[in-house]
Amino acid sequence: MKNEITLEDVLACRERRAKLQIKLLQTYHSPLVSFTMNIAGPVKTSPLIKRAFDLGAQMLEKALPSGSVLYKEITEADTGYEAMYAVTENAGQVKEICLSIEASSSIGRLFDLDVIDQGGTKLDRSSARGCIVCGAHGRACAAARLHSVKQLQAKTTEILNEFFLDFDKEQVGRLASMCLVDEVNTTPKPGLVDQNNSGSHADMDLESFLKSAAALKPYFKDCFSIGNKTAAESRSVTFAQLKAAGILAEETMYRTTGGVNTHKGVIYSLGILCGAIGRLWMPERPFAATEQLFKEASLLAQDAARADFAHADGKTAGERLYLKYNITGIRGQVCDGFPALRELALPVFQNALEEGLDQNEAGVLTLLHLIAQVEDTNLYHRGGESGAAFAKDYARRLLWQNRLPKEEELLSMDREFIKRSLSPGGCADLLALTYFVSSLSKGMV
Ligand SMILES: [Zn+2]
Repeated sequence: MKNEITLEDVLACRERRAKLQIKLLQTYHSPLVSFTMNIAGPVKTSPLIKRAFDLGAQMLEKALPSGSVLYKEITEADTGYEAMYAVTENAGQVKEICLSIEASSSIGRLFDLDVIDQGGTKLDRSSARGCIVCGAHGRACAAARLHSVKQLQAKTTEILNEFFLDFDKEQVGRLASMCLVDEVNTTPKPGLVDQNNSGSHADMDLESFLKSAAALKPYFKDCFSIGNKTAAESRSVTFAQLKAAGILAEETMYRTTGGVNTHKGVIYSLGILCGAIGRLWMPERPFAATEQLFKEASLLAQDAARADFAHADGKTAGERLYLKYNITGIRGQVCDGFPALRELALPVFQNALEEGLDQNEAGVLTLLHLIAQVEDTNLYHRGGESGAAFAKDYARRLLWQNRLPKEEELLSMDREFIKRSLSPGGCADLLALTYFVSSLSKGMV
């Protein structure tokens, strides 16, 4: 089997580690932390084990006082992943930190965090760890070889899968809620609620958005779980459950904001994206590639969205826009796999960051491009055809005159939009989605 290791490999690895320890003790005269994964059987490496190792190293580095790491060396070999640290802290305190990491989560059971003091002595743990299969105390199971390698491997995989499923659900909820916070904080945004003012809105402010973003976090986690639990079923099953959760999330939003629609658009679009992430989830790779995510979201939403458009009779504002101008809004975006993000917002945002703009500046620029290009249903609702055309022309002119419009130009755009009661809320939702998708591809743990 690939990557299987022999006894010689293990011995050679131990010798190499011992030599490194001696070298580091002589160089730094400080305690060392040796971090390895506790993996049974002859195969010590896999993308899933690597992910757990990377997370463990990150947990350790976060837990150690800042500036205390003098040296760090990561080794990746068939014998397993290893990290060796020389640290300034007192060995006993470092051992306490390591023990608390090992005990802090289910995955910690698979971490071996050894501490070696300045004199080269390994610090003992006060009590032996329990058996990973049956939970029995001490080393009795291991000594008697009570469980087969197969059992140990199966248990290890189970621990890792369950841990990362929960971990990623939390990550998705946090990132989804955070992108809404980042969107509303992006300033200045013409006609929209931002840190300067409430734009063209008398009924909401920054706080309404922040409260709503926080209240919706559990909903986004639910969407991920729905997608994951129904991954083996047809997409219509997933979609029906997402829709039911979305209706409840709208109620939560209205309750939180006192009846104001802050996030209806993203409850739909971001909810479906989180559902798509759940459906495509794999423990060793939490987020599928962006293109794949967009495709999955589009397939999830397509049937329902097409049926809605086919039966549109003008009862809702959205249907009237569709019938009159063929504008499909956010549902059209999801249905078509987010063309405004793929072709416009994400490239503009990424390029701006690469050019050295900070996230706020890049976000404002992305929003301007969206206003200039996208048919925004909110602009039509509030300003009609002429209002929407005014907004679009304004953004185009600004970008035409100056690739990176100046602060005062943006502030006067805000005033003009407010004067006309225009609010590009659809574009703001797309900006939030841009933040969300960018944060996924930044390579979260
Ligand atoms: Zn046991």
